Formats: sequence, structure tokens, C-alpha cells
Amino acid sequence: MKFNFPVFIIDEDYRSENNSGVGIRALASAIEKEGMEVIGVTNYGDLSSFVQQQSRAGGFIVSVDDEEFIATENGEEPKVLVQLDAFVREIRRRNADIPVFLYGETRTSRHIPNTILKELHGFIHLHEDTPEFVARYIVREINTYLDKLPPPFFRALTQYAYDGSYSWHCPGHSGGVAFLKSPVGRMFHQFFGENMLRADVCNAVEELGQLLDHRGPVVESEVNAARIFQCDTVYFVTNGTSTSNKIVWHSAVAPGDVVVVDRNCHKSVLHAITMTGAIPVFLTPTRNHYGIIGPIPENEFTWESIEKKIKNHPFANKVKGKPRILTITQSTYDGIIYNVEKIKEKLDGKIHNLHFDEAWLPHAAFHPYYKDMHAIGEGRPRTKESLVFSTQSTHKLLAGLSQASQILVQNSEKEILDRDIFNEAFLMHTSTSPQYAIIASCDIAAAMMEAPGGTALVEESILEALDFRRAMRKVEREWGGGWWFKVWGPETLAEEGIGAREDWFLDPGAAWHGFEGVAPGFNMLDPIKGTIITPGLRLDGTFDEWGIPAMVVTHYLAEHGIVVEKTGLYSFFIMFTIGITKGRWNTLVTELQQFKEAFDHNRPLWRAMPQFASKYPQYSRMGIKDLCFDIHSVYRARNIAQLTTEMYTSPMEAVMPPAEAFALMAHRKTERLPIDAVEGRVTAVLLTPYPPGIPLLIPGERINTTILEYLKFVRDFNDRFPGFQNEFHGLVEEPNERGTFDYFVDCVPQK
Ligand SMILES: *Cc1c(COP(=O)(O)O)cnc(C)c1O
Repeated sequence: MKFNFPVFIIDEDYRSENNSGVGIRALASAIEKEGMEVIGVTNYGDLSSFVQQQSRAGGFIVSVDDEEFIATENGEEPKVLVQLDAFVREIRRRNADIPVFLYGETRTSRHIPNTILKELHGFIHLHEDTPEFVARYIVREINTYLDKLPPPFFRALTQYAYDGSYSWHCPGHSGGVAFLKSPVGRMFHQFFGENMLRADVCNAVEELGQLLDHRGPVVESEVNAARIFQCDTVYFVTNGTSTSNKIVWHSAVAPGDVVVVDRNCHKSVLHAITMTGAIPVFLTPTRNHYGIIGPIPENEFTWESIEKKIKNHPFANKVKGKPRILTITQSTYDGIIYNVEKIKEKLDGKIHNLHFDEAWLPHAAFHPYYKDMHAIGEGRPRTKESLVFSTQSTHKLLAGLSQASQILVQNSEKEILDRDIFNEAFLMHTSTSPQYAIIASCDIAAAMMEAPGGTALVEESILEALDFRRAMRKVEREWGGGWWFKVWGPETLAEEGIGAREDWFLDPGAAWHGFEGVAPGFNMLDPIKGTIITPGLRLDGTFDEWGIPAMVVTHYLAEHGIVVEKTGLYSFFIMFTIGITKGRWNTLVTELQQFKEAFDHNRPLWRAMPQFASKYPQYSRMGIKDLCFDIHSVYRARNIAQLTTEMYTSPMEAVMPPAEAFALMAHRKTERLPIDAVEGRVTAVLLTPYPPGIPLLIPGERINTTILEYLKFVRDFNDRFPGFQNEFHGLVEEPNERGTFDYFVDCVPQK
């Protein structure tokens, strides 16, 4: 496979008719004859702007013959030399290996300080050798650089796909040719392209190794990732962190075991509880009235507190032995993270396995901003007894294809993970036909984080996230008193750069976060997660006279090509992944201003949101402000902020282990009850409202009054505002003769 990485030549004279122009063009054409593309740029202007090209370039050739290199009289560094120094430093901050050559006729290395020279691959004097000779040298250096880039699995896969061997094994489309036999198949082929289909192979291809038993290039890549992520073992997983979590659990938990779980955990953890037949004891996070989920208070992590919970639990109290696993959502959806070392200190040896669900945090190991705030990484002391696991969605914040995920393990002083036993659980959840493009993306995502590039990428996300926040504040200042959106976060924001990470700690005294019981230094907000607050609701849970429910804003944004990650009552959520661009967040800022215009002028929906209005004509002539006020008044009348907080923090009663309740469903022994009849009954299903997408009740728990009230609210709201329905997984929806919906819950039958 030949990749295209052009050589950049940066020389003022590149297009001039003078001697130096003729010389550099001769070199360029000699390089092209060697089969490498050349891009010549004359605008020396701001050298640092070329730094961004380091990912695209095979190498740089920079002329130092420029006029401005001539030393200034007052002894200052010449301007271009200063720029050259910054250029080389910026390149090396991102890329340790890309070849950089200087090129000069009148100047020699004597004119260039050592700090620059030591980062270079050569100093070219054109007139001493033929352009062909110099070109071969440059091309050889660049090819050496490019050849070293691909990590093991990706290297093997590209070679295999390029080789063009005929395959008799599955998949049945045989490198894509099956698609060519039908018109729709051809459309598919043209859209995804030959390479994707040639690289879609099955595990009969021995030279690519095996994911299922970790052999060959696959395991080389896992070992490579373990080195980059600084842990003892990495397993690539091709079915998402949903599966990674289940693998970790099944490797460690058996029916009847007690497990300690963050109540704010992902569905997959609750599925793992049901599948393993475990008895969960929950740790409850705080919440603020924006609906943002806060941290589990530090004192909940003490062994005394957990022991007490187990003692008071109706079934867990009968189980002997230590809990098998602790699972914590390390980075909540909204970006709250914990000092992991403090948790390990408290629970090492008390719970067999400490598992951090870092679906949203694979970037943290690569920047000192997150020191101690992620499970495993450089310089972390080993726990004495408990194994430490981290499960990460490579695809959420790094550059992985959907479902790319990984499990990281750090052994303890006492125990080394038994890989054979662990793999039994891995096999239980992994398809025997894993998608090789996903494995390749796990491999590449890890390689991209290799030092120093990974740190630079994370730093860039943090910087863009802070620039976005600064831009939002600037807009607010300029509206001078008019309303504007706020970005949830600390009051103090560095004026430039990424500032200090301490700014993002949740201090007990600080008003901005609205969480109770936080301990100093225990939690931090990850700045790359941005929660944008709309007017209408205060942090104490009281409502303003008027307000803008977030779902109206996010529907509006969607019509203008901006899809947000999650929508709450008066907040919505965006993320600054390593794929962020200035264009993307600046467009958001301008679209929000457009929304404000539309709102302030109460534009009718047919104008402000034409697609939505044509789908739901009942709103067509309504003003967007009037619509906001209508929804706001319903929220306010039902005191919904209070209700959604209380439904999560209200005491939950476990009536039977989740697996038992689920078994009733498998045997069709559950009762489908209308929501008016469910108070006090026990749910057989997982009930998860969106927003926020966090499970509210798990199978085997009792439906209390607060939860019932919320179910009724959802029904009334959905009746009244079609098009703005609240989703609710687990709630069965059936159309009725009134043209609306009736709602049911599958419950455990009463004895
Ligand atoms: C998204 C998510 C998962 C599941 O990850 P997938 O890669 O989507 O399967 C697990 N845990 C948390 C906390 C998540 O947010």
C-alpha cells in the first residue's frame, strides 16, 4: 500500500526566476521523479501555520536564505530565526520523527543554533550535489519515517488487503465482489470503497493473528497499546464498552456474589448484574437541580460505610466474603471525575476487583491535567491486593470506529491477572467473526496517542474547549444585560491557554457546581465536557418567570446541522473530542446567536424550524418564544426539577435479585400493568428515562410514589407536546383511540 504524504518546501523564492528559485524547483522536480508529491509554498509569513500540516506531510524542507535571516543590528535574533525555532519546537511537540531539512546557499549550519540543528534530518546545499542525489536522500529519509509509522495490526491488514489473494473463506462477499453483481450492491461498493471491503476478512486468515486467543499481529498491537497506555495488559474489544464491562464482570463475578456499584452507571453494568446473578449494593451520587449528576461523596467509599450498606441490605447481608467488584463511572456523562488513588487507598484489599468504567476518559492518561484522575497510567503505584480494571470506549473520545473499545488491566503486588481464565469471559462475549476494521482502529487510536503526539492532541482539545467557553463569555458581555446561554463550570477561567487544572476541582465552598458533600481535591470537572445552560431554572431548583427548555434549542440546532450529545431540561451537552475543530464550535456559537434572534423576535415555527413545523403542523403558526413559555410553564407547574432530582435520590427498595426478576420475564410470568396501577409494584425491567439516560429502577426494585409521579408526568407531557416526547426505555407504549399513547410497565406478579 502506497500512502500519500507530500513534501512541503517552504521557500520565498519557490516561484522566482532567480538562481535560488531555479535551484529549489530543480530539487522539487527531482523529488517528484522519485514518485513523491511536492507542495511548494512561498509565503514564509507565519511559519507556525505549517505546523498543522505535520500529520499530512512526509517531511519539510525549509529555506534559510531569506532576507530576514540577516542579523538585526541591535543584536536581536533575526525574525525568521525566531520563527524557525518556534516552528521546529512546535513540530517536535507533536511529532518526534517527521523529517525536517534546512536548505541554504549562502548560509550554513554555523548560522543556526544547536537547539534547532539537533532536531533536523539534514542541511542541504544544492549546488554541491546534483538535485537527483539530494532528492534520493530526502526521499529515503521520508520513506524510512513513513515505514515506521503503522502499528502492527494495521500494517499486516493493509499488506494483506493490498496483496490481492483470492479468498475462499467468509465473509461471503469475497473482498467486495459479491456487491458488484447487483445495482444496489454496487452503490454500497462505491460508497464504502474497495479497501474497506478488501480489508473485511475473517479469522481464517492466519497471518493477521487472532483476536479471540490473542495471537500474531493482534496481540502485538495489544502489547503496543499496553505500552502506550502504561498498563500491564490491554484487550481490544470490538463490541463496545458495553461488552468490555460484561467481560470484566463475567471474569470475576458469579451468581449470588455481592458487588458494589455506582448507581449512576451505564446500562451495560446493570445488564452485567442481571447476567451474572450478582447482588448489587449501590453507591449514590449527588445531583444538582440542573439534573447534572455529581460525584458519589468521598465518605461513601469508606469500607465502614460499604460494610454498613451490606449489613442493611435484605439479601447481601447473608453473603459471606468480600464483594467481588466495585464499578465506578469514572467520568460521568457530564464530566465529573474522581481522584482514583484515594479510592484505591480506601478499598484496596477490601473488594477483589476495582473497575473504573472510563468509557469517556481514554484521553486522560496522556495529559498531566488529569494526574491521579484516571484509573491506570504512568507512575501509578500498584495496589497491594485488588486488581485494577479500566474499560474505555476508544470510539467516544479518541479516533476509533464505533464499537472500538478496550480493557486495561493493572496487576496488584499480590495478584497477576490469569490471562487464560480472563479469556474464558472474553470468549463468552466476543463474536467469532470480529470486525477487523474495528481492531485496526483500536490499533491506530492507540498509536495516535504515542508520545509526544497524544499529549499535544489532548492539550488541543482542552484548549479548544476553553476557547469555546471564553467565546461564550465574550458574547454574553457584548449582549450587555440581555439573556445568554451559560456554560456550566467554574467562575474563574484562565484568560488564555489551558490554565491550571486546579480551576476545575470541585471545591466544597464553590457555588457553581451545586453539589453537596464534596471533599477537597477528590473531584474535578473535565473541561472538554461542555454543559450549556439555558435560562429558566436556577441551581437551587427554583424556576424563573420565563425560560427556554433545552429541547427547543436542540431541535432548532438539529435543523441547522448541529446535533448535540445529550439534552436535559435546561441544559444540553457537547464534547470536545480530539476530532474538534475551530469551525465546529464557532458554528455552534453563531447558531446559538441565531436562536436568540429567533427567540427574541418570537419568530413563528414555520420560519424558525420549518422541518419540524411541517412534521408537526399544530405548532406552525406558534411563536418560538410562546412555545418555550408553554413548555416552561408545564415544567414549572409540575416542579419538574425537584421531581427528577428526587426520583433518583429517593430510597430504592430491592425486593428480589435482578436476575430473578428478569427470569420471570423470560418465562412470561410478568404482568403488563398500566402506569396508574404500578405504585408499590416491583418492576421486572430496567427503567431508563431520557434525559438523562441513567437507569432509574433495575429489575426487582419497587416503584415508589416519586417515580410514579414522574411516569405520569411523562405521559401528560407527551400527550400535550407531540414532537418533544420524553423517551423512556422499559416503558411499553401503545397507541390508543384518542390518538395518544397509553403506557405500561412489566411487573413482577403479586404473591
Ligand atoms: C457509552 C458508555 C458505555 C458503553 O460503551 P459503548 O462503547 O457504547 O458500548 C459504558 N459505560 C459508560 C459510562 C458509557 O457512557
